[in-house]
Amino acid sequence: MTYVITEACIGVKGEACMEVCPEACIFSGPEDDMSFIDPARCTDCGACMAACVVGAIYPETGLPAASREFLHINAYWYRHKTGVRQRVREIGRETGLLP
Ligand code: SF4
Ligand code: SF4
Repeated sequence: MTYVITEACIGVKGEACMEVCPEACIFSGPEDDMSFIDPARCTDCGACMAACVVGAIYPETGLPAASREFLHINAYWYRHKTGVRQRVREIGRETGLLP
């Protein structure tokens, strides 16, 4: 299992989740509009979920249906950053989280 960062992180970012992650498996680049959890390294401790002030993080098994795409968005960022960045921008604009 993994934890997953969802759309509530778009446009917010910050580092609260990164600071508490014992596996150092949450990343974001300067070009990104959100942060991403590496599912290959996440050990399901839940510390990031408790630290996020906007409630953007869920366990994979507790993901709201509307945020299901973010399971793939988090994982694919580690392989296809450009495509994921474009999709996150699309979602951000569609939801009004990004201008
Ligand atoms: S703490 Fe929440 S809003 Fe901040 S980067 Fe992590 S998931 Fe995003
Ligand atoms: S659940 Fe734990 S190991 Fe996984 S990303 Fe969050 S803090 Fe890191």
